[in-house]
Amino acid sequence: SGSGKFFVGGNWKCNGTGDSISKLVSDLNSAILESDVDVVVAPPFVYIDQVKNSLSDRIEIAAQNCWTGKGGAFTGEISVEQLKDLGCKWVVLGHSERRHIIGEDDQFIGKKAAYALSEGLGVIACIGELLEEREAGKTFDVCFQQLKAFADAVPSWDKVVIAYEPVWAIGTGKVATPEQAQEVHVAVRDWLNKNVSADVSSKTRIIYGGSVNGGNCAELAKQEDIDGFLVGGASLKGPEFATIINSVT
Ligand code: PEP
Repeated sequence: SGSGKFFVGGNWKCNGTGDSISKLVSDLNSAILESDVDVVVAPPFVYIDQVKNSLSDRIEIAAQNCWTGKGGAFTGEISVEQLKDLGCKWVVLGHSERRHIIGEDDQFIGKKAAYALSEGLGVIACIGELLEEREAGKTFDVCFQQLKAFADAVPSWDKVVIAYEPVWAIGTGKVATPEQAQEVHVAVRDWLNKNVSADVSSKTRIIYGGSVNGGNCAELAKQEDIDGFLVGGASLKGPEFATIINSVT
């Protein structure tokens, strides 16, 4: 891995109940984690308070989404102010499930990123192509367009982590090969160098997500430009998530 401290995020998505989350928290609290890794978990909104009050401070908390601006008359939404009040330090934005199932577009996602950063939250900015886009040779075009939407919106990259998550690899068990992931990470870094700055390009962490598990993390982590992982399914199992965290090289 290359830039900055290794970063591993666990996206719990819409999984769990009070009991299963309490078990997961206790497994994470008893796991031995490499000290040189930033670790973040993203519980469902309704369990953030429970997790914040029971999970070791070693692990920071992310929300899986947020509203685009200050809270108010936005039924069903969760504001950045509320997330900060509960102790969240991060928010996941642009996740493929929100882009492709919920229908969020680049502009809407960019607005959320700008507001979250302006309020001091860190942003895990997700990008990634669909299988048909990869097969059509459009992987870089799609990733760069999504990246540009973030770049156009964010005032600073200090608290942004980019997650490259090919949609065909998310929740499918079909992990990208280390070479496939590395190729896109290099292209993203190069895009940042040309379109933002050399400093942002060298300092911004680019993490990989898509069917990362305890068995494939070590090979991926060896790649020069893979600075960590965003993990879905395997983050629901404490010991396996610890293995992924400890794959830092
Ligand atoms: C994700 O949702 O960000 C993800 C990478 O999921 P999974 O690890 O289950 O593919």
